[in-house]
Amino acid sequence: MKLIKEKLHIFGKLQKYEENILNYEIIILIGLIIEDLFAKVFFAPAAWREAIFLLVQAFLMAIIVSVNIYERYMAKKQNGPSILMTLAKLLKYVALTSYISTLWHGVFFYIVPLLPIAFHCISNGCKKTAPLLITSWIFQLGSQIFLCYIIQSSVDRRAAMEYFIGLTVKYVLFGLFSHICGRIYRIYMRGQEENSILIDRLSDKYVQLEQAKKEIQAHNDRLRETNRKLEETNQKLTSSIAEFFTLQQISQAITSIFDVNELLKYVNDVIMGVMGAYHSTIALCGGSQNKLKVKVSSIFDKKDYAIVSDYINSDVLQPCIYEGKSMIDNDVDPENYPFTKGRDIHSLICVPFLAKGVPLGLVLVEHSIKDAFTDENVRLLEIICQQVSIAIENARLYQQMQKLATLDGLTGAYNRQYFQDKLETEFNKAQQGNYNLSLIIFDIDYFKKFNDTYGHLFGDQILKALSSYVMKTLRKEDIFARYGGEEFVILMPHTSLELAAEKAEELRKGISELAITNNLVAASVNISAGVASYPKTARRPIDLLNSADDALYMAKRGGRNLVKVAKPLED
Ligand code: GH3
Ligand code: MG
Ligand code: MG
Repeated sequence: MKLIKEKLHIFGKLQKYEENILNYEIIILIGLIIEDLFAKVFFAPAAWREAIFLLVQAFLMAIIVSVNIYERYMAKKQNGPSILMTLAKLLKYVALTSYISTLWHGVFFYIVPLLPIAFHCISNGCKKTAPLLITSWIFQLGSQIFLCYIIQSSVDRRAAMEYFIGLTVKYVLFGLFSHICGRIYRIYMRGQEENSILIDRLSDKYVQLEQAKKEIQAHNDRLRETNRKLEETNQKLTSSIAEFFTLQQISQAITSIFDVNELLKYVNDVIMGVMGAYHSTIALCGGSQNKLKVKVSSIFDKKDYAIVSDYINSDVLQPCIYEGKSMIDNDVDPENYPFTKGRDIHSLICVPFLAKGVPLGLVLVEHSIKDAFTDENVRLLEIICQQVSIAIENARLYQQMQKLATLDGLTGAYNRQYFQDKLETEFNKAQQGNYNLSLIIFDIDYFKKFNDTYGHLFGDQILKALSSYVMKTLRKEDIFARYGGEEFVILMPHTSLELAAEKAEELRKGISELAITNNLVAASVNISAGVASYPKTARRPIDLLNSADDALYMAKRGGRNLVKVAKPLED
């Protein structure tokens, strides 16, 4: 394409030369006439004619030299182009061409005037060149006839006619030739023009296509970027949905599972699933020293479980539990974590359970490969722990409330309401399990008098001391309750009437030996007790209580500080 453009440029130059040549065509025409004149004079020399010839040559040279001097003078003055200057130049060119034509070979310049005409014909067509051809033809014809007349003082008609026909034919042929060349040239130029238009259009199209290509590429890049962002968002959404689902599962579990241990077991399983962990262990604070104790763990191996249980309170986890900071280590050094020794653990996360900043426990998630966990895992585990912490705290509060609601405030024994409930349930269990259920009811003797003697406060002290003594001597499954005032009951599952009577006797003795002192006095009390048992003395809960109460009444009637057994039922 560049090459074609360069070629077109050459044609442009050609046109410019042609214009320049045409500018001097008139001068050339004049030169032609003079050349003809001198040629004829030269070919027919005579003494006076030679003199004229030399004179004219000298005159022409003088003109050329004068104009040159004038031009230099004007150039020094640095004046702009003036009409005088243009005329001087014109004169110089006329003189120059005329001078050339006076030379012997000037005759060869005969072709010169036809050159601009040929150029003109080629580029402008024959029609536009016709006036030029006609002018040239007239000048040439006129000058020949004029010269003939001057040289020979007469014109030979025949020779003039021949010359006229010859010259005319020459000009017509030249005109025809120029016309054909002009046509070819114009066709060629049109083709070139069309080509250049086509090339221009093509190059425009090419530029447009390049532009479109760039835009498409940019668009494509943007699409790829958008696609990448969408994929990222999609991934985030998927993990958010998974997170949401997990948290929803845990929320549901919290609202439906009331037993903390069961809830922790469930949460531990969920954590294992979500984190794809190797092991997960939950430990809660408790006991007098508020130490961590493993509550639930996915570790089956007894040895490994024992290691984790033993080292769960190791120093390395202290920041987690006491400062409430989550921990992540994806390149575990067993030297730093004693609970991982010999267990093939290489990554771990530890997140605390916190309730209003108070540590409740922690969850320890472990993996056998390095770099198993991300900060995202820690974040999710923290959210899970936050939720579970609330559940643990609520459960603890509930346990405390329940304890308070079932216990007697002064003695720490269960209250009457709790006893009534337990009597029903334990009785049913005994019935279903077909085992003995005994009941001891005892009342402090002459307690009114005791109060009157030592004061009510001291009386309270007696009640407390007596209760703590009884609680210490009972089994875990026995239920000791304050039935009212200074009257207590003991419900004893899997205990026969005889054994219960023995226990009552033991208690009576023990209480009587219980010396309670304050700073001033020491005192002791006696009790009277009644014992009943299912199925021996009662077949219904109310009967169990009533029969025991009857026995107590008998003990009171019998002189107090006695244990009486209810009458066995008749079969
Ligand atoms: P008895 O041997 O017949 O049982 O004689 P008693 O004086 O114990 O008679 P009763 O059981 O009727 O008296 C109950 C007394 O127990 C009345 C009350 O002053 C005393 N008492 C009841 N509840 C409390 C208590 O919470 N604190 C104190 N200090 N005394 C109480
Ligand atoms: Mg009483
Ligand atoms: Mg009493």
